[in-house]
Amino acid sequence: MKPFEYARPTTEAEAVEFLGEAGVQAVILAGGTDLTSLMRAELVSPTRVVDLKQIPSLHQVTRLEGGVQIGALVTLADLAKNSLLDGYRSLFDVVDGVRSIQVQGSGTIGGDLCHLPNCWYFRKGYGLLGQENGISLPETGDNRYHAIFGNEGAAKFVNASRFAPALMAWGAKVRIVGPSNKTSSRDRSSGSSVDAEWLPLEYFHVTPKTDQQGNTILKPGQFVSHIWLPDGNQISSATYEVLQMEGLDWPLATASVCLDVDGGFVRDASIVMGHVAPIPWVADDASRWLSGRQIDEDTAGMVADFAVLSAKPLSMNEYKVQIARTAVKRALLKATGQLEV
Ligand SMILES: Cc1cc2nc3c(=O)[nH]c(=O)nc-3n(C[C@H](O)[C@H](O)[C@H](O)COP(=O)(O)OP(=O)(O)OC[C@H]3O[C@@H](n4cnc5c(N)ncnc54)[C@H](O)[C@@H]3O)c2cc1C
Repeated sequence: MKPFEYARPTTEAEAVEFLGEAGVQAVILAGGTDLTSLMRAELVSPTRVVDLKQIPSLHQVTRLEGGVQIGALVTLADLAKNSLLDGYRSLFDVVDGVRSIQVQGSGTIGGDLCHLPNCWYFRKGYGLLGQENGISLPETGDNRYHAIFGNEGAAKFVNASRFAPALMAWGAKVRIVGPSNKTSSRDRSSGSSVDAEWLPLEYFHVTPKTDQQGNTILKPGQFVSHIWLPDGNQISSATYEVLQMEGLDWPLATASVCLDVDGGFVRDASIVMGHVAPIPWVADDASRWLSGRQIDEDTAGMVADFAVLSAKPLSMNEYKVQIARTAVKRALLKATGQLEV
């Protein structure tokens, strides 16, 4: 690991200053469960690490504007314990799937959203696109865990966030703090003003076209401070993750659903798949098709077929299409109480 400075801001405004100083290559430290591995492997070599843990507002879950605001530093374990989040079952399903109390205790929701891909080519130092001398290693080599959607361009990795599909299905927004964000808002921890913007989560992750681009829209000096979810009283939700191992593991494919059901008929549905594309994959057509229908084994199976219709597997991951299909079907049955897992 290369030497670096360690900064511990106590306010959002101070964090922005530490991150934005000219000539400094700064990274954010949240729970550190992934960042420390990335730094040890010298895949990320910052000159400054900015630890956000001393900023109180980032640890809070509060009511805000017809919904709930979750601080980016809220750990998985704290999220599962917070009564304001009781109605958001699909989030608890994700926490349950992370089968390590150590990771649940230190991993944060913000760190999960910003998690860099687990693609083995990236983790071996070939960059986000996994290229060697301009050749795509995932395209020509072992791609069994890679993308089955959105893989037409140079990026073949799958988005590593476990919460993003569930949060997106809920219609979540993220608050991005830092330079070039339009609105000034008051930093509650210091009373001073910081540039911040709320953005629908579906615009947060991006598919990079070059190795110079990241996999989120965050620019240098920016960070995620909060996530906002609309009220969930009328909504049934669930996440179904297909994992290979009983213990700590990354999913092969996941699906999160939110359903507004009235008298047994779906009024509105949102289905988002995870670990199948460089970004969380929204199954819009399949979601729309559900409107006005009742969910049973047959309709859930049909929607699942629809959701994976446009999949384009690589040479070694056709099996993931069936797994993604199963995840969608089971998430729908789980959300409607027809599957106990
Ligand atoms: C050995 C090990 C194995 C693991 N295996 C799994 C697994 O199989 N499945 C699983 O789900 N999880 C696993 N995890 C946990 C996973 O790393 C965490 O759950 C979580 O995704 C990262 O959260 P963190 O707070 O520790 O983030 P950090 O490691 O602190 O940060 C992760 C990345 O996000 C950036 N970042 C963090 N917070 C912000 C923010 N607010 N704004 C902008 N950027 C930010 C950091 O700079 C860094 O690039 C594992 C962890 C360890 C240590």
